[in-house]
Amino acid sequence: MKARILSELDDGKALETVARVLMETYNLDVAIGKIGKILDHHSFNSKRGQYDAWKLVQMYSEERKKDEYLLLIVEGDIYASGFNYIFGLAWQGVAIVSTYRLKQEFYGLDPDQKIFIERLVKEAVHEIGHLHGLTHCSDRKCVMAFSNWIGDTDYKSWMLCQNCRLKLGKT
Ligand SMILES: [Zn+2]
Ligand SMILES: [Zn+2]
Repeated sequence: MKARILSELDDGKALETVARVLMETYNLDVAIGKIGKILDHHSFNSKRGQYDAWKLVQMYSEERKKDEYLLLIVEGDIYASGFNYIFGLAWQGVAIVSTYRLKQEFYGLDPDQKIFIERLVKEAVHEIGHLHGLTHCSDRKCVMAFSNWIGDTDYKSWMLCQNCRLKLGKT
């Protein structure tokens, strides 16, 4: 199986790290595709000032080829109904991750590229895990643990726990 990354974030180091970890975790052939704008007014909710993640994954499902997973990395804030915000979402072969709340600057702190890349990798591995049929994991160190806030993302590792690896069909 292949994966293709479409990204608004123009950061070679971050994208290559995401691609490498996805390759190692899921044995995927990962390509970094087009870098450029993904978010547009069709998916923008002006009342919330956020982008509708469901709309985006549905729109991009038409762009997805049959033998690939599509990972969208966007810079704006995204939401899904029932949540104030989300870090990412996955649906039928298409995943989206937002960098908006992964940057230290968002929390009033100094920029830190290492922390940012770690968070981005975790969220990408998490969403691609959903595309492989994995559900949320009760092991809070497992990358499939649900992140309610950035502290959960920082607490968990970028790796699948033993259970989730078994579910993936690996040992
Ligand atoms: Zn999840
Ligand atoms: Zn797990």
